[in-house]
Amino acid sequence: MKLDILVFGVHPDDVELSCGGMLLAEKLNGKKTGIIDLTQGELGTRGTIDTRKAEAAAAAEIMQVDIRENLQMADGFFVNNEAHQRKIIEAIRKYQPEIICCNAPEDRHPDHGRSSGLVEDAAFLSGLRKIETVIDGLPQAPWRAKYVFQYIQDKYLHPNFVIDISEVMDKKLEAIKAYTTQFNSTDNNEPQTYISSPDFLESVIYRSKMFGKMIGVNYAEGFISKKMIGFNTFDAFIKRNT
Ligand SMILES: [Zn+2]
Repeated sequence: MKLDILVFGVHPDDVELSCGGMLLAEKLNGKKTGIIDLTQGELGTRGTIDTRKAEAAAAAEIMQVDIRENLQMADGFFVNNEAHQRKIIEAIRKYQPEIICCNAPEDRHPDHGRSSGLVEDAAFLSGLRKIETVIDGLPQAPWRAKYVFQYIQDKYLHPNFVIDISEVMDKKLEAIKAYTTQFNSTDNNEPQTYISSPDFLESVIYRSKMFGKMIGVNYAEGFISKKMIGFNTFDAFIKRNT
């Protein structure tokens, strides 16, 4: 299946928190979307591999993505090397996305920046025909997405562009809340963490409000692009008084 947009996240829930709104908005826009989680988040303080797997599946349904896969790399210990790049290259060639999104280039959690570099490197290498990969016994064709964008996570980074998610903000929050062991959860016996208090969920909302304010809408998500973004016409721009 060919996808329009493929989003990589190192931990299940990274995508929901940072660009779940974009995925929902693009789904309304008729696009084929997918998520690939690099790890099962097995080092997370709360929850287990099984609970996180069930939560990721529930969130995927809320976000109506066409595919969600898990590459089962080692949480905390994966590295940016050939073996890991090849796993990402195989996924990119399998789904042939026009746009790839990946983790923030630097963040509170060191996995995020490392994952970002890994996906970025693999996204480039995927276009080289002399790197041979195989799927179901058949050789894969090289594929390079037109854009690789990094979404913004916990640490504030200045975005190069923001996407209006006002229409889908409620659904985005619903997808985040599908991770019942991770967020806004005070009713079980596991230790509280940086992300499990109601304050954290509130911070996701005010970050979206802040990005929204930059373009005169209620809520938005921010992205970084190393490549210059071109438009065919000014008609694609949001025109609000800001
Ligand atoms: Zn994460």
